[in-house]
Amino acid sequence: MKLSLVVPCYNEAENVAAFQQAVMAAFDGCGYDYEIIFVNDGSKDATLHNLKKLHAAQACPVKVISFARNFGKEAGIYAGLQHAVGEYTALIDADLQQRPEIVRDMVKILDEQPETDVVAAYQDRRSESKVLSFFKKSFYALINRLSKVTLQPDASDFRTFRASVRESILELGEYHRFSKGIFAWVGYETCFIPYTACERAAGTTKWSFWKLFEYALEGIVGYSTAPLRLATVLGGVSGIAALLYLVWVVLEKIIRDISVPGYPTIIVLILFFGSMQLFCIGIIGEYVGRIFEQCKDRPIYIAKEVLTYEEK
Ligand code: UDP
Ligand code: MG
Repeated sequence: MKLSLVVPCYNEAENVAAFQQAVMAAFDGCGYDYEIIFVNDGSKDATLHNLKKLHAAQACPVKVISFARNFGKEAGIYAGLQHAVGEYTALIDADLQQRPEIVRDMVKILDEQPETDVVAAYQDRRSESKVLSFFKKSFYALINRLSKVTLQPDASDFRTFRASVRESILELGEYHRFSKGIFAWVGYETCFIPYTACERAAGTTKWSFWKLFEYALEGIVGYSTAPLRLATVLGGVSGIAALLYLVWVVLEKIIRDISVPGYPTIIVLILFFGSMQLFCIGIIGEYVGRIFEQCKDRPIYIAKEVLTYEEK
């Protein structure tokens, strides 16, 4: 098998058949064999029903993995990678925003350049709001400052890579998965190519602003311990400030003999340090929560059904 296409699907009932058509149109006649691995991530619409139809027809080799509930796209990718057997593996969305023809180009690059292990597409033109663009830019700037791995801005998980890279990714069995970080962490020679995302064929995006925020937090907490250090820095700075203030109060008492009650100062200080402590405990909590989740050692996903095909 030359190529495995891993396709996470959540409520993509209208798209899966069109997606398969597009893949077949792109790859038929290119002279190598490929398989499509659909991962149904607990969809609430007819996605599974439609996937089963595609699986029964086997117009091209199709595997279907169906989760017991919605585990998230990252879990879907992980499951798909576990079932992929191709020399190359491609990650692609089911909504046709990422054209299968681009995967064909990625395969060509891997064929022609033996030194390249991963071909990743990044969006050269984004059609989203200025506010969202701003937040995304700030996120990349922040995480690249805080973390030891470097994330390529705008590079998504739309990529094609060799089997060795797939094996390495599967070795990272962490529960909280952040694939941009995972790709950066495993390394390998990566070639970035620009692409323009198309409009969604049908349905709506599953990403709200809040979900994106959570995902960004995943990236920062998962790939940097710098925020933990913030507590130490804040504590040190405010400790020195408090000492200086103490000296000031004593001097004032000795030299000028005034002792104002200072009620507002006390309230402000209590509130300030109280909130700073809560803030720092919150940061620690983010890490402790992840340690808790990880040491329960639960599986990344639960597959209710796995449909494969007979190798010819
Ligand atoms: N997806 C998934 N599980 C989820 C959310 C999304 O498998 O919980 C899939 C979705 O079906 C699609 C891909 O991930 O194939 C990308 O999602 P979407 O198109 O909503 O993201 P966007 O393109 O807007 O970033
Ligand atoms: Mg999409």
